[in-house]
Amino acid sequence: MSFSSETKTALCNSEINKSCCKRALLSGMLAFSNIFQWDKIKLITENKDTAELYTGLLKELYDIDTNEYVSEKHTTDEGERITHNSYKITAVSAKRLQPLRELVPSGAPSFYRINENIFECESCRRMFIRGAFLASGTISDPKASYHLEISTPYTNLTKDIMKLLEEVGFPPRTTVRKSSNVIYYKDSEQIVDFLNAIGATNAAFEVINRKIMKEYRNNANRRVNFETANIEKTVNACNEINNLIKYLIDSGEINQLDAELQKTAHIRYDNPGLSLSELAAIFEPPISKSGLSHRLRRITAFANERMKK
Ligand SMILES: [Zn+2]
Repeated sequence: MSFSSETKTALCNSEINKSCCKRALLSGMLAFSNIFQWDKIKLITENKDTAELYTGLLKELYDIDTNEYVSEKHTTDEGERITHNSYKITAVSAKRLQPLRELVPSGAPSFYRINENIFECESCRRMFIRGAFLASGTISDPKASYHLEISTPYTNLTKDIMKLLEEVGFPPRTTVRKSSNVIYYKDSEQIVDFLNAIGATNAAFEVINRKIMKEYRNNANRRVNFETANIEKTVNACNEINNLIKYLIDSGEINQLDAELQKTAHIRYDNPGLSLSELAAIFEPPISKSGLSHRLRRITAFANERMKK
């Protein structure tokens, strides 16, 4: 099941007690369904629970019977053939659908508007948005990306839902795709707020979880890159000093150094793979890392001086 479908199933299974909230939810589903006319309604969804909720609410609140058609759709994912069911729910009858008119404002210029008068309690607005998401929304799997959208071909309805989303605290972005107005979020925090507001707490938790994992992985990668860069720096420094020591040995200039520095140069040259602290430890008697680094600086300065001549 897709992340979208899982989210919808969880939403459909969360119980609603107040009848005002049920009406607001059904209103959101109808407004954002495929067809909502005085004499005909139609919802097409791939989520079985959404189909059942729509059918159940129409029956419970308005005693409207619906017809259901199930068809199979096929897609391929990495060569694997996947079958999806598609549920088409319809009701056709001007007389039977008459009571649904209370869900839309009377005398509105466009049929598809949000009737704020049906919102009675604090939760009604959020239930309307839940209905809109169930009917026309999708959310991408947070493993891949952050994207949540609701779409509708109707301009007035788009304006109304944007206003509603602003009122509940998450102004969305919009774009037009084909002939649809797409209302969407790309910011993970806004998606989490949206999901929490409509009651999809598990999905919200999943988005947060994924975000934390991504950040952890990015930090770990940054740390590995940083350490690799440091190792490279050390290796380069070692190659550089060993080139200088090789010059001193080949030219015989090494004999100009005092015994202590000659010994240090030979030990460095013979152990190119060792770090400064490892190298300091093999001296007899052992010397400190800073003492060693001081000697190496003197050797480097001497070699640079000689090479200039
Ligand atoms: Zn309510």
